[in-house]
Amino acid sequence: MRSPYPQINCDVLIIGGGSAGAMAAIRAKELDPRQTVVVLEKGDAKYSGCIARGMDALNIVAVPGVATPELYVESNRLACEGIMDEPVNFRMAQRSWALMQKLVSWGVCFPVDEKGNYDILQVHPKGRFCVTMKEPELKTILAKKMVDLGARVVNRSMALELFTDGNRVCGALAMNVRTGELFILHAKSVILAAGGTARFGLPNNGYLYGVYDFPGNTGDGYCLAYRAGAELSGFEYTLVYYIVKDINAPLLYITLTRGCHLVNAFDERRDKDHPSIRTMFLEHLDEKGPMRIKLKHLPEETIREIESLLFTTERPSCERFYKGRGIDFRTGEIELWPTEVFLCGGHGLTGVRVNEAAETSVQGLYAAGDTSLVARGHLSGAFVFGEIAAESATEFAAGGGRTDPDPQQIKAFEDKRRGRLSQTSGAVSIEEFEYKVRRLINDYIRPPKNEYKLNRALWWMDRFRQELCELVRIGDAHDLFKAYEVENIIECATLSAVASLERKESRWLPWHYRSDFPQTNNQDWLKHIVLTQGETPGDVRVTHKDIIRMQKGN
Ligand SMILES: Cc1cc2nc3c(=O)[nH]c(=O)nc-3n(C[C@H](O)[C@H](O)[C@H](O)COP(=O)(O)OP(=O)(O)OC[C@H]3O[C@@H](n4cnc5c(N)ncnc54)[C@H](O)[C@@H]3O)c2cc1C
Repeated sequence: MRSPYPQINCDVLIIGGGSAGAMAAIRAKELDPRQTVVVLEKGDAKYSGCIARGMDALNIVAVPGVATPELYVESNRLACEGIMDEPVNFRMAQRSWALMQKLVSWGVCFPVDEKGNYDILQVHPKGRFCVTMKEPELKTILAKKMVDLGARVVNRSMALELFTDGNRVCGALAMNVRTGELFILHAKSVILAAGGTARFGLPNNGYLYGVYDFPGNTGDGYCLAYRAGAELSGFEYTLVYYIVKDINAPLLYITLTRGCHLVNAFDERRDKDHPSIRTMFLEHLDEKGPMRIKLKHLPEETIREIESLLFTTERPSCERFYKGRGIDFRTGEIELWPTEVFLCGGHGLTGVRVNEAAETSVQGLYAAGDTSLVARGHLSGAFVFGEIAAESATEFAAGGGRTDPDPQQIKAFEDKRRGRLSQTSGAVSIEEFEYKVRRLINDYIRPPKNEYKLNRALWWMDRFRQELCELVRIGDAHDLFKAYEVENIIECATLSAVASLERKESRWLPWHYRSDFPQTNNQDWLKHIVLTQGETPGDVRVTHKDIIRMQKGN
């Protein structure tokens, strides 16, 4: 039967055109310029994702003569409190220097001193790995490169479902988020690079999109993988950052490494002992917050350097923000607060389980960046595993074979969509509904957690699943697309509550603080909690997996 939807055929399909997706597209075209590579992007790949513009550092680079991949594994094992597969992290660190040199060859600016040395900071428990970058055009450089090499970028399009044939992926169903038009992508291999769940808890500022991470990331990569049968892990690692109040923009590495003072509400200095997000957040919870950053003692030259980084690289809107608040760094100070709770592979430990070849447990399906579990890999992880995923996906696609999507799967999707589109007189707008879902995530999943709260979270998420189909008003394509996003946020909350209930200990304080099990218990819990889908999306299967250690000769 001929499908009524437009069709796109490709060898490699990449879902998400952010850091990992763009790098994957570039690598795939470098490897085989003749293969067709399609990048599906919810926003506009020129400015979408965590690198909306640029970045001020590549957080993990094993610079020869300064640090080694082995030291990085040791350091990250400490940061992850043991819950980390070593070979994956080793591979990332091992390729990080070559990756950085590739960026340099594209004109990305990593400042050097008069002797030609990079500025390398210590922000990890051991070793100096964080290389200062000053590149406000990083994202546009990547976007241009992938297009110049011949990757086809399909903007404003959201992947909604993966198609599988048995345990093999064979494409995806997508929707134009402006027109609502559905289309089908046939692919020999698929790379998931759709970021983490940025829109998870509700931020203090009350704005749905006023979050730390890229707001277009709603856990779609996790949910697509989960529904296709892949293994997920680390959903109990519920992150809360501690950064600039209200705008939720980063600045800690930029300021604290340049001599700024960090003080608590009582003006006590806290910058002396290598402060971490975690120690600041704990001090805040201990009623000694808010913490503040003071700069006025710094020379004009340093203040200008900080301004030039903060106002040009990651979020140029910061300049307007500080102006609006009447804050001049020469006289004023910057107030910090906890962010919303969120899930992420790059800053945290949440993601689709992958091996050193970026393979998931589904054939032909690869994951990279914040969607994947390359624990705390940051931008380096996204770039390196973007490349690795492209290499594996290219090899798999070259093996040939393409099957058509199962018509039953399309029909089931259409039936559900028809139901949604008939909700024109629902009582609750999708925005109000999302607000409530995320408020309840704050109440019951944000740490500190306990069994009672987590069970309440599960009860609410079941109810929200139902209400999304009955109470929410879907007036147009835009509402429909947001409803798909909120469905994924609900799914991520379910996964997070299940994993948090399972891990009956406290670890990564305060990210997984169980007040009913306040101690860390290495005897029983030094392992992964792995989630897979059961009969329905709400039926989450839980297993435990051992930590994978380095083999000699890796
Ligand atoms: C504010 C901030 C500052 C940071 N600073 C640094 C730093 O200085 N150094 C460092 O090393 N790391 C830093 N990081 C971390 C690093 O930027 C991220 O780990 C990395 O960029 C993640 O890349 P990604 O491709 O996984 O996600 P993203 O770059 O966010 O890309 C995901 C893309 O997927 C798209 N998408 C989502 N769902 C769908 C869907 N269903 N269909 C189609 N497309 C979809 C999104 O629109 C987005 O473009 C920072 C992160 C943030 C948020």
